[in-house]
Amino acid sequence: MATFKSGAQLSEQSITIWRIIQFTSWLGGAFILYSLLFFPSLGILLFWNVLIPIAPFIFVVAVGIWRNICPLATTNLLPRHLGLSKRKKLTTKQIGLFNIIATFALFIIVPLRHSLFNNSGLATAILIISMASIGITLGFFYEWKSAWCSGLCPVHPVEKLYGGNVFISMPNANCENCMNCVIPCPDSTPNINPLSSQKTEYNKLSGLMIIGGLPGFIWGWFHVPDLITITRLEDFLSVYEKPMVGLAITAILYFNIDRVIKVQYKRKLISIFAAAGVSCYYWFRLPSLFGYGTYPDDGLLINLSSILPLWTVPAMHIISTGFFVYWLVIRKPNNKSWVIRPEFGIKKAVI
Ligand code: SF4
Repeated sequence: MATFKSGAQLSEQSITIWRIIQFTSWLGGAFILYSLLFFPSLGILLFWNVLIPIAPFIFVVAVGIWRNICPLATTNLLPRHLGLSKRKKLTTKQIGLFNIIATFALFIIVPLRHSLFNNSGLATAILIISMASIGITLGFFYEWKSAWCSGLCPVHPVEKLYGGNVFISMPNANCENCMNCVIPCPDSTPNINPLSSQKTEYNKLSGLMIIGGLPGFIWGWFHVPDLITITRLEDFLSVYEKPMVGLAITAILYFNIDRVIKVQYKRKLISIFAAAGVSCYYWFRLPSLFGYGTYPDDGLLINLSSILPLWTVPAMHIISTGFFVYWLVIRKPNNKSWVIRPEFGIKKAVI
């Protein structure tokens, strides 16, 4: 699949194969969206309890796969592929601003799962359609992935935190030529992390919030039950309390440790917080998928609690935490990027 014509350019055959995979993934996404609208129980199960739980693992191991086949990316890059994009370049400040907005969006949207999205196929569908509408609109104006995939997408800060030491660099199945639309390009920079770019205060703040804040935010999120009936605004907003307290605690912890350690240990500290975040996620998420959750009906995929032995839960904890600590903290950085940068293209003439 990953044969190259020259340099990092894909052969015609490889491009065709990737387009088929992207179209298949896009159809999968369309099916989930259709289910969310017309068969909400199925749609919610597929989106929140199958796709989303797999995503962090993919980000850690080979986020380039996801970057190549994400149905939202395929949709949003359509104007560029069809030659309909104005191909504008964002300034450094604009990219920093987009990154901080994406980080805030993540922390605002995710708690709403408890009060809205986890129990409403329609609300989840509207969320996806809204993101696609913003992304495709930006795609008509800005070059390649700069505005959405590496800018406003609320999932992108998590990709940058978890995808710091991927197993494999995939070919870039989206950008036909590199137009240097984001510097540094998160896809093409080896061992990227959320603080790889600190050109603006926005970059620094979003880096601090996602690296330091995510582990505590995740911990707090798993200590909030899904609310079935909401009668007061206070109930609706209560879902933010624990995630935000957790976020503040671990962000302050990270900030203070980062201030006192030597420069050569800062990258390791980011890896430790990345491992803490993803380990915390699966610590709670894996048991809840199989009926062992703190709130048994929340996030359930299939209830195996009457079949599996009790040691299943500690085994899940040990295996998942051990794996992520090894992968992100113990393994040496391997100098791999998410995808291989294609050959540089010729800049569009300014008319
Ligand atoms: S590979 Fe080049 S064109 Fe593609 S997103 Fe990165 S910087 Fe932009």
